[in-house]
Amino acid sequence: MKVAIAGAGVGGLAVGALLAREGYQVEIFDQFETPAPVGSGLMLQETGLTVLAAMGLRAQAEARGSVINRLFGRSVPSGRTVLDVRFKALSASLCAIGIQRSALFTLLYEAACTAGAAFTGGVDITGVDAQGGALLCRAGRRLGPFDLIVDGLGANSPLSMDVSTALPFGALWASVPWPQGEAFNDTALEQRYRTARQMTGIMPSGVPEAGTGPTATYFWSLEGDAYGEWKTRGLSAWQAQAEMLWPETAELVSELGMEDLTFARYRHRTWPRPVEGKLVHIGDSWHATSPQLGQGANMALLDAYGLYLGLRAHPGNLPAALADYLDRRSTHVRLYQVMSFLFTPVYQSRGSLLPALRDWVAAPLSRVPPAPAVLAALVSGSVGRPLHRLKLV
Ligand SMILES: Cc1cc2nc3c(=O)[nH]c(=O)nc-3n(C[C@H](O)[C@H](O)[C@H](O)COP(=O)(O)OP(=O)(O)OC[C@H]3O[C@@H](n4cnc5c(N)ncnc54)[C@H](O)[C@@H]3O)c2cc1C
Repeated sequence: MKVAIAGAGVGGLAVGALLAREGYQVEIFDQFETPAPVGSGLMLQETGLTVLAAMGLRAQAEARGSVINRLFGRSVPSGRTVLDVRFKALSASLCAIGIQRSALFTLLYEAACTAGAAFTGGVDITGVDAQGGALLCRAGRRLGPFDLIVDGLGANSPLSMDVSTALPFGALWASVPWPQGEAFNDTALEQRYRTARQMTGIMPSGVPEAGTGPTATYFWSLEGDAYGEWKTRGLSAWQAQAEMLWPETAELVSELGMEDLTFARYRHRTWPRPVEGKLVHIGDSWHATSPQLGQGANMALLDAYGLYLGLRAHPGNLPAALADYLDRRSTHVRLYQVMSFLFTPVYQSRGSLLPALRDWVAAPLSRVPPAPAVLAALVSGSVGRPLHRLKLV
């Protein structure tokens, strides 16, 4: 069976590795001339880590990442703790792993290549012939025919684009050396908020390459429409704001240049037809959302494994295999899309009602059992029992 994978991202590379190991003839296409990850650090939850374990890659991911035991956020100027998620509230050994995207990419890319998947870069995919099994590319180029096309082109996939919705907020991201001193907890993702209009955070992100030091991912929430103005106003105006919101970050922020900060605009959309003829969508091309709950990469890994299981369970019967994939993944996808949609404005929005409810109602309630365990389950990605559906527990 010839499988084309559009996009060498988290989901595309994972499914490429899994299917190539199973003997499928796998070709992975990406716009990059040479394989490269885009973006900053991300959090691998127990869901994604369990898929990596099934692929034999968990220990390597853990070795390149930082253990995160707690998500912690204070409101400014009150100083109230308004977010406090401790993974151990659910289970003593539960944690997340903060990892640089480049480290995860290298791991998955090497696994796919070692398994025999072929990679072709410099391919700008513009469309698909879902019934004919072909990818359409810029300048009228047509790739195929393939027996199956996997769309792993991410949140801006041109194969699932027309209902795309940009969220009002995004964020500036930077990878930085882990700040020295006692000001930051190297096992916690920590944030500061002023209502929901301003938010900043620091996440431990591991040691991406042997011989280098530990890193952090720094982020600053920004409205999508304000990015132009942010650039025009210049770095020092923003640095003053950032220092006021979280004075301990002053040194870190003062060392950042504009070129160190990448702006990511978030999208929220669920593509209504994840399977169509010989085309199947995985990851953000099926269900994009803001990274507020930190699930996207983990969901892409779960999708990759679900698709692999579906194909393995129904050899030679593509419609049955793809129906099996949807059956394993749809409920979890729907649940987390709804929850991400509800949570995003609590931390990123212009209004003041939601942040007030967050600070004065939700935060105190979140400390009352069983709320701590429920929150830990939510953030670890396990609501809806996705690993059971994939027979990974
Ligand atoms: C700033 C930020 C922080 C995040 N933090 C987290 C986190 O902490 N935890 C978490 O789980 N998730 C996080 N996410 C979400 C996560 O990154 C995505 O959900 C995940 O990468 C989706 O994987 P994917 O395989 O669907 O697509 P991607 O990983 O986005 O890969 C898409 C690939 O397709 C290629 N491509 C795109 N368009 C074309 C084209 N037209 N032609 C050819 N190639 C193309 C791209 O080059 C890329 O390689 C974050 C996202 C952002 C933006």
